[in-house]
Amino acid sequence: MKQLETLAQTRRYSRQIMLPALDLAGQEKLLNSKVLIIGMGGLGCAAAPYLCSGGVGTLTLVDGDTVDLTNLQRQILYTDADVGRFKAEVAAQWLQRQNPEVQVHAVAQFADATLLAGLVATQDLILDCTDNLQVRQQISDACVEAKKPLLSAAAIRFEGQLCAFKNDGSGPCYRCMSRLFGEQQLSCLDAGILAPVVGLIGVQQALWAMLWLSGAADLPWHQLRLFDALHSQWQSFSLVKQPGCYCQAP
Ligand SMILES: [Zn+2]
Repeated sequence: MKQLETLAQTRRYSRQIMLPALDLAGQEKLLNSKVLIIGMGGLGCAAAPYLCSGGVGTLTLVDGDTVDLTNLQRQILYTDADVGRFKAEVAAQWLQRQNPEVQVHAVAQFADATLLAGLVATQDLILDCTDNLQVRQQISDACVEAKKPLLSAAAIRFEGQLCAFKNDGSGPCYRCMSRLFGEQQLSCLDAGILAPVVGLIGVQQALWAMLWLSGAADLPWHQLRLFDALHSQWQSFSLVKQPGCYCQAP
């Protein structure tokens, strides 16, 4: 178990260590946590800096895509000079400058079932920051197999959604949710997105991750949260297991 060793480390995180619900013990839990972020688009770019600055010990960033000019409006870790470079690598460099104490690994490959099976098993928490239905299902399946908690998020137009799945057999999985609510087939390419909407949802993923990993609070597991940016309203729906779903296969 790693511990905070220097005064500089304690000072870096002092404003969250002073929170009674988090405390030194919570900070050391963060230090010993491994988080896998799949997709370094708008959600990943919003979530990763807070996890890194807040002292999550190990971050692994997965994305096989390269930076495009159309990404810069919302994927705020990238600049014009990064166009054509791998997002995972640019983001890892950015985060390493932000907090050199965090171990940041870049995996510049598109996620598939094989890659995910290898990566997910060693993590404490997985953030789905992708925008592809097939990959989302593969991420969910890998988390169900390995019994790893998953924070799933999506944003499009003026709408965001978020749900935490425990994947320990106690509740539904991402596939259960998509059976009930249908699937978001559209992408930002087809439908557009207002940048702060995706930023807000990504930061909410980071908030949930830090609350749970530090032990400061439990999460509203298996409750789908929908955000309507045009009316500044959140809605919540409780999810249940769907019979015959992948998560209940013997
Ligand atoms: Zn399921």
